[in-house]
Formats: sequence, structure tokens, C-alpha cells
Amino acid sequence: MVKKEDIVIVGGGITSYAAAIYTARANLKPVVISSAEPDQLSLTTLVENYPGFPNGIMGPDLIKNCKDQAQKFGVNYIQGTVDSFKVKQGYYEVGLGKKKFNARSVIISTGASARRLHIKGEDKYFGKGISTCAVCDAALYKDKIAIVIGGGDSAMEEALALYKFAKKITIIHRRDRFRASKIMQDRVFKLKEKIDIIWDSQPVEVLGDGRFVTGAKIKNIKTSKESIIKCNGVFLAIGHNPNTKIFAGKVNLDKSGYIKTDKRGRTNLPGVFAGGDVQDYIYKQAVTSAGTGCMAAIEAEKYIENLKATKKYKGD
Ligand code: NAP
Repeated sequence: MVKKEDIVIVGGGITSYAAAIYTARANLKPVVISSAEPDQLSLTTLVENYPGFPNGIMGPDLIKNCKDQAQKFGVNYIQGTVDSFKVKQGYYEVGLGKKKFNARSVIISTGASARRLHIKGEDKYFGKGISTCAVCDAALYKDKIAIVIGGGDSAMEEALALYKFAKKITIIHRRDRFRASKIMQDRVFKLKEKIDIIWDSQPVEVLGDGRFVTGAKIKNIKTSKESIIKCNGVFLAIGHNPNTKIFAGKVNLDKSGYIKTDKRGRTNLPGVFAGGDVQDYIYKQAVTSAGTGCMAAIEAEKYIENLKATKKYKGD
């Protein structure tokens, strides 16, 4: 008989830790498996809209607090990248290379990863001037020139993070207005002396000297005119893709790859739940991620209770 865990939580962001707090507190001894790649809150600065923190809280502190809070109730934290998911007879096998966890219930909270442009020079200079995290890398651009691609809150946040260090920042956006919240836009608009905006334009190539980024070729979408901007850094802030590859074909996904859940965080597989950005392309907020992590946890707890009540639970 294979040894089984009641709950395996896949992911290492606020959804996972919220689910861990609830399931650990219900004495279900969850196993939380997360990769070394940082979650989105760990890559952000001040979070001003998470309830309960009138002065805001730094993203990495919020995540650490959540992780510690869950640990208090008993969580088995495993570091590793989950690379397989199999549906077995009455349970699920979650694999990290040769290591396997067998779970009666699985909570998927693998989040979403930064999107790439897939343009010439992008792979060559990724990490050599191209970044998806100004909060992490802005200090490297002291007195240098940077461009930010995108028009959402992330792009505004990247520009504001760079403002403290860079000599000049240019935001390049494919439309003539930003998608970002008004408050974030206003902060950027106020910093005109350092932050330029180029509207209706899309990068078509990242240029470099063989070692590092030296510029970008951009194209005006309306006129098709191409121009070159000299810069040392290119920051991509064009949204995220859900991390669902290993679940495809087993867990139902929508056409963009997000996990389909019902209002209770349930997927098509009994005992498999999902929360956070892996199933939410609308709100994508820390507070909604924590909320859906809580929902998935409560549903998973009910699922285990039901297994026990119907005597389908074998104490192995
Ligand atoms: P987002 O809101 O999806 O914005 C992505 C931006 O990138 C859009 O402006 C989009 O242009 C542009 N874009 C997408 N694909 C592109 C491509 N291939 N080439 C060029 N431009 C492209 O993503 P986000 O900014 O990462 O924000 C995600 C969520 O997190 C949002 O809900 C946001 O409110 C939240 N967030 C909040 C904060 C904060 O409050 N401090 C900070 C960061 C993120 P279009 O506008 O034309 O579609």
C-alpha cells in the first residue's frame, strides 16, 4: 500500500501559504512543495492594498509572515520543482524528479510567470540587460538608461523602481493609454523630468554589443516607422502566463491555459482544487489569491472529511 498525504499544496506564493494555514490548522499536516523561483509578492516592493496594514507592508515580508504563520500549525515545506502530476486509483501522484508524493487531495497554486516578447535578441540578452523584475535589478541601473515595456500596474511599478536609480526611463506601450490603475499612472506622470512615454509602439528587437544590451528597435504600430532607442536595460512588464503545463490533459484548462474552477475552487478532478493566479486572470491580487487559497483549503478539508465519513479513507 502506498503512503499517502492528506493534502499536497503545489506552489510557494500567498495562495499556497493561505491554504497551508487553513489545512495545517485543521490538523491535516499539509505538504507544501515550491520551487526556488520567487513568487510574485517576493518580487514586489510596498503592498499598499492588502487589508490590515494601514502603512502598507513590503511584499517579501508579507510572504515570510504567511509562511511562518502556517509553520506554527505544522507544515512540511519541500523545496523543488514539481514536474509530474498523475491521476492514480483514488489518489494523485505529485512528482519532483524521482521523488513522489501521493496525495488524497491536491491544491494547485502554481501562479503565473512573466510573459516574454519572443523578439530577436531577447533570448541572447536575457539576464544581460533584459529583466522582468525592476524591483530586483533596478540598483544595477544607477545613472543608466532603461526602458520599460507594458502599460499595466507592473510597468508603472517597474518605472517607479527604476526612477530611484536610472538617469532616464522610457515606457513603451503598444496603445495610446495605460491599463494601469489611475493612482499608479499619476505617480508616473508626475515624474516627467525622468520618465518619458512612447505610445502606440512595440519593441521588435533588442540590440546589444554581444555581451550586454545597448538598445532596442521599436516600431510605431500606427505608422510602421521603426526607430532605435539607446538603453542599458529593457524591463518586460507585459503580464503573466499561468503555470499549468504539467496539469494539462488531466485538469481542465481554459483556452489561455488557466485552470477552470467552479465557485468553490473545485477542478474537474475530485479532490483537486486550485487558487490564485493559476485560475484567476481577472483580479490577480494578493488578497484575492489568499482568499481563493483559503477556499481551496476549506474544500479540501471537507473532501478529506467526506472520504473518512464514507469509509473510503484508508489510514495508510
Ligand atoms: P497586465 O495588467 O495584464 O498588463 C500587461 C500590460 O502589458 C498591458 O498594458 C498590455 O497591453 C501589455 N502587453 C501585453 N502583452 C504585450 C506584448 N506582447 N507586447 C507589448 N505589450 C504587451 O499585467 P500586470 O501589469 O503585470 O498586472 C497584473 C495584475 O497585477 C493586475 O491586476 C495589476 O493590478 C496587479 N498589480 C498591482 C500592482 C500594485 O497595485 N502595486 C503592481 C503590479 C501588478 P494592453 O494594455 O494593450 O493590453
